[in-house]
Parts: sequence; structure tokens; C-alpha cells
Amino acid sequence: MSTIAFIGLGNMGLPMCKNLLKAGHQVIGFDLQQAYRDRLVAAGGKVTDSLAAAVEQAEIVISMVPAGQHVRSVYEGEGGVLESARPGTLLIDSSTIDVDSSRAVSQAAAAAGFTMVDAPVSGAVPAAEAGTLVFMVGGSEAAFEQALPILKCMGTSQVHVGAAGCGQAMKICNNMMAGMSMVALSEALTLAERLGLEYQTVYDVMTKASGNCWALQSYCPVPGPVPASPANRDYAPGFAMAMMLKDMKLSQATAADASVVTPIAAQAAALYQAGVDDGYGDKDFSFIFNAVSGRITLQGKH
Ligand code: NAD
Repeated sequence: MSTIAFIGLGNMGLPMCKNLLKAGHQVIGFDLQQAYRDRLVAAGGKVTDSLAAAVEQAEIVISMVPAGQHVRSVYEGEGGVLESARPGTLLIDSSTIDVDSSRAVSQAAAAAGFTMVDAPVSGAVPAAEAGTLVFMVGGSEAAFEQALPILKCMGTSQVHVGAAGCGQAMKICNNMMAGMSMVALSEALTLAERLGLEYQTVYDVMTKASGNCWALQSYCPVPGPVPASPANRDYAPGFAMAMMLKDMKLSQATAADASVVTPIAAQAAALYQAGVDDGYGDKDFSFIFNAVSGRITLQGKH
């Protein structure tokens, strides 16, 4: 069993830690917020009051923090992972961040003699709790093999998608698709209800037909057909609209860098931006159905 330093004990980090503890690993957590450290202690983990103190004791470091600048500070900052970790420590970043930051941190880690993978996840909080996350892993084959036993404690699918940064590239493409399809589905559901169709009927037929997609099957944005979907609990996340906006913006910046034109994704991103601007960032991203269907009018620019 391994000693794991886990950095970032938020919505995703805490349940991931719980599954590592359940598998018999020792987890030493650190988060900037004391209240989040207390939650890990209540779950049976240990915590420290500095990042360095957690990392110094570990054989493996896992990070689950919001964005690229946080990952860079965790690894490259003063007292950060690259300064504090013992030689031979395996580094795993599971945050969703931009490809450039991910590659820069991987290169800095390699220069300091560490093995690192980017291993962002799909599946949101329920999958983090159930230990059924999907990991998209970037790094060398050897690094992937080394990380695999630990990733298996937190997920049911681990795919080696390419070299360093490719995990993030895969995750960005996936979430771009999820963000677009939620808007597309919202348009189809709006038309269906205007034409007198019941939501359940649309669900029953479309999930067996060519309109089927994850947004409909697992995350339906209207109450009823999928009991676990956020639409049945006033759109409590789930996956917050602010997080989806972050990922849609990542997709747009990445597409621009790669000279790829993505007009549909750009429109979807603008819609989420308007939702966040109007104060709905804490709602689940499927709340966008309410704007598409005209139940609410967004004032933000889109
Ligand atoms: P969160 O905001 O709940 O948690 C992030 C935590 O990181 C916070 O508690 C924050 O205090 C901590 N943090 C930030 N900088 C830190 C630092 N320097 N040192 C220590 N702790 C630090 O976010 P989350 O929902 O857990 O998401 C984390 C990452 O996972 C994001 O990149 C997100 O896009 C990705 N993700 C989230 C979901 C989801 O459904 N929530 C699903 C898949 C991927």
C-alpha cells in the first residue's frame, strides 16, 4: 500500500481520497481551505498545514485543483511539489487544465527527475463517489503502467491516450462535445414540447434512435426521465455551469491555437458565458435548457 499526498480536497478531491482510503492507502491531504482539510480528517485521512509537509512524506502525489495557474503553483511554486517531493515520487495531475500548462509542468517535472502523468477525469461527483471515473492519461507508457494501480482505486476506465498533455487534449475535446450536445438537446426538447410531445416520450424514443447522446441518456436537462439528473433537484450540481464555461473556453483557446474553426462550440460557449454572467454559475450546466427554452431570458452578451 502507498502513501499518497492529495492536493485539492474539493468536490472531486474528497470523494477520490475516500476511495483511496477504502483501498487501504494512506492519504495525506492538503487544501488551502481549512474546512476542506477537516472533511478529510473526518473521513479517516491525515492532513498537513502546508503542501510541502504532505508531499515530503509521499510516494505518490495526486493533484485535483481548479485550473492551469493552480497546477503550476502546486508543482512549480515555492515549497511546491517539485521542490519538496522525494526522488522517485510519482506525480499525477487529475485537474482539467489547458494543454500548454500541463505540458510545461510535465517538462519541469521531467527536468527535476520525476515521472508524471496528466490524468483528467470524466464522470463528475457521483462517479468520483462511486469510484467509477474515466481517466484519460497522457505520459509515457511506463508512467501510465506505474499510475494504473492507483487510478484503478478511483475509476473503472483508464485509457492511455498519448504523450504528456494528451490527457488534457482528450478531456477538452470530450467536454466541448458535452457542452455542445447539452445545448443541442435543449433545442430539440424545446421544439418537442411546443409540438405537444411528453418529455418521457421523447426520452423513450430518442434513446433508441439516432438522436441519443450522454446528455439525454444520463443527464437529461428536464425533470422526469432520468431521476438522478440535476433537473430533478433544481439544477444543484453535478457539474457547475462555471466549470463547463471554463472547459468551453479551454476548447476555444485550444481550437484557436490549432487553427480549427468551431462555430457551434463558440455559440454554446457564449450561451454558458451569458448564464454565468447572469449569476447561474453555481447551477448545474444543464440549467442552460431554461435559457434555450425561453423560461428565462439571459441579459449577458451571447
Ligand atoms: P473545487 O473547487 O471543489 O476544488 C478544488 C480545490 O482545490 C479547492 O478546495 C481549492 O481550495 C483547492 N486548491 C486550489 N489551489 C490550491 C493549492 N495551491 N493548494 C491546495 N489546494 C488548492 O473543484 P472540483 O469540482 O473538485 O474540480 C477540481 C478539478 O476537477 C477542476 O479542474 C475541474 O474542472 C475538474 N473536474 C470537475 C468535475 C466536477 O464534476 N466537479 C468533473 C470532472 C473534472
